[in-house]
Amino acid sequence: MAAEKRLVVATGNAHKLREIAEIFPDREVIGQREAGFDGEVEETGRTFEENALIKARAAAKALGCPALADDSGICVEALGGAPGVYSARYAGGHGDDGANRARLLENLKEITNRRAYFESAVALVYPDGREVTAAGRTYGHILFEETGENGFGYDSLFFSDDLQKSFGLASAAEKNAVSHRYRALQNLVAKLGENAGEEKKE
Ligand code: IMP
Repeated sequence: MAAEKRLVVATGNAHKLREIAEIFPDREVIGQREAGFDGEVEETGRTFEENALIKARAAAKALGCPALADDSGICVEALGGAPGVYSARYAGGHGDDGANRARLLENLKEITNRRAYFESAVALVYPDGREVTAAGRTYGHILFEETGENGFGYDSLFFSDDLQKSFGLASAAEKNAVSHRYRALQNLVAKLGENAGEEKKE
């Protein structure tokens, strides 16, 4: 029973883990490290989906239990979709959120088209090799300066169409109701429901 409620998330990102736990309040959401897998995997994929699969496969294989991974980032229209899968390392080193935001502001300095979206791909991989993936997006534009201190990554630079304010000013509940990650997870849950129905029919 306890094992069924447990959802191992293949991430070392505490912000993502918290968001996923908030989205699945009935589950015991734990990070891969807490579950006993320390392995850093290289994100060599060219798409969010490929990277989510790489991370979830590695954790499922190492732990012998189903593992969920998210790969996500921000895609800016005027930059041809950049930073995209390189969002975490846009300024060079991995995960320096402040430097990444500064680089984005610098690269958009003269640009008036600031349309952008966050995208998340989620992958659920079972130890027997079954894989289910889904994606979600949330649209908005890049502000000219950081606004608000909530969230992480590019949140303070992203003005959400849905919320009509920056993610940096949004509460966790407000962001989770419209976020790319929430939408990807909803799509995943819907797919899992369909698969369960099909399995029953057979
Ligand atoms: P990943 O951990 O390799 O998927 O990298 C995701 C990167 O995209 C993070 O380091 C953030 O910079 C950015 N990102 C993804 N989701 C969000 C979000 O919800 N808010 C702000 N930034 C995000």
